[in-house]
Amino acid sequence: MYQTIVAKFGGSSLADASHIQKTASIISMDPARRYVVTSSPGERTDDDIKITDMLYMCHSRFTNRENYQDMLNAIHLRFDEIVSELGIDFNVSAEIKELQKNLMLGRSSDFIASRGEFITAKIMAKVLGWKFIDASDMIFFNNDGSLNELKTFSTASRILKPLEHAVIPGFYGIMPNGSIKTFTRGGSDTTASIIARALNADLYEKWTDKAEIFSADPSIIDSPKAVENITYKELHELSYMGFTVLNEDSVFPINRAGIPVNIRDTNNINDKGTLILPELPEDFARENMFVCVAGKRGFRVLQIEKYKLNKEAPFAAKLFNIFARYNIACEHCLSGIDIVSLVLKNPLFDLRRSEIISEIKRELNPENVEVKTNMSLISVIGQGMGTVKGVFAKVFNALANAGVKVKMIDQGSDDLNIILGVDDEDYERSIRALYNALILKNA
Ligand code: ASP
Repeated sequence: MYQTIVAKFGGSSLADASHIQKTASIISMDPARRYVVTSSPGERTDDDIKITDMLYMCHSRFTNRENYQDMLNAIHLRFDEIVSELGIDFNVSAEIKELQKNLMLGRSSDFIASRGEFITAKIMAKVLGWKFIDASDMIFFNNDGSLNELKTFSTASRILKPLEHAVIPGFYGIMPNGSIKTFTRGGSDTTASIIARALNADLYEKWTDKAEIFSADPSIIDSPKAVENITYKELHELSYMGFTVLNEDSVFPINRAGIPVNIRDTNNINDKGTLILPELPEDFARENMFVCVAGKRGFRVLQIEKYKLNKEAPFAAKLFNIFARYNIACEHCLSGIDIVSLVLKNPLFDLRRSEIISEIKRELNPENVEVKTNMSLISVIGQGMGTVKGVFAKVFNALANAGVKVKMIDQGSDDLNIILGVDDEDYERSIRALYNALILKNA
């Protein structure tokens, strides 16, 4: 179905020779997987150390004039084990010698850390019999550290397009002065996203050992259903509620280019994983319009009452100015004719609460100001649900049947979700009730 897939494999899929072999077999299962981006070997056990962390340690020990040799030997040994078990002809000693030489030359920690990906990608290229293309030949930063998109996309496309296959190390690129610079930790995702964008690939596959994006928090719901497809906007709502599935910044290049991401599980190859789509195509029929139920505890609600405040033109401006002065963001704002409610999560609010309330009283002259604590927000996510008949009935019946009193409702204007406020003590009960009624029952 797809012609060109950029597949990225994380540290857990490359932790040792057997994982690398498994990764190679996954790659060979689909001829569209033509470009592979590698991270560097991750932890094999709970008390193991990632190669990247070992490299950072090596650099800091060297700079602090401490003994770095043990760490360098451990890195050497780790790659030696991988290479000998894979049975490939690869000179690990030469790579480690080069690494040591660069340490002595005083290369930056970014440079030293990047060697994990550099060596791993070379090993992977050998295993697959593919060409290794260095990221420093294609990924260019500007002097301020931002990506030089124009140069990067055009160079990567020029170098890679003529190649049937290539392996590219993730995590780094090159500065205008020729030094190596890494992305933030976990940055191989960014590399893969950049390569996918440069090639205008059909798909970016991100392979990990915990692929699932769940439709509810697994610490509340036992084995919740996995989300089959989700849009970037919906994912953004999920992230807001604290679900960390994908570093959103890492997909900025493909998000804009409309390239989908498929999160796949290396331990469950037959599972289709979660497809993240820029937009829901018009003819895309979802099995269930509710995608997930997510939430967070501990919000504050500040209610300000004043007769006919909706007629007072500068009211909102004055109110938000007060919050701007304290640099406190209002998460949600709900307004009626005589009342406005602000939902706040910033712990700063608690710290500056009395000052803020005095300013509100002084500047806005309200009849009443009240703060409600212990409010949880729950977001029922599913694009387009506001246009479907009976959606609200389902949501509110589920909560009513569970004996939950809804304190606040915000539908938002983009028809992506409904946000409900409930007491903290009703939080888990509400999540269970909504999950059972909307997701489990395929509402
Ligand atoms: N190896 C780097 C890290 O540990 C980059 C990555 O894995 O994506 O952060």
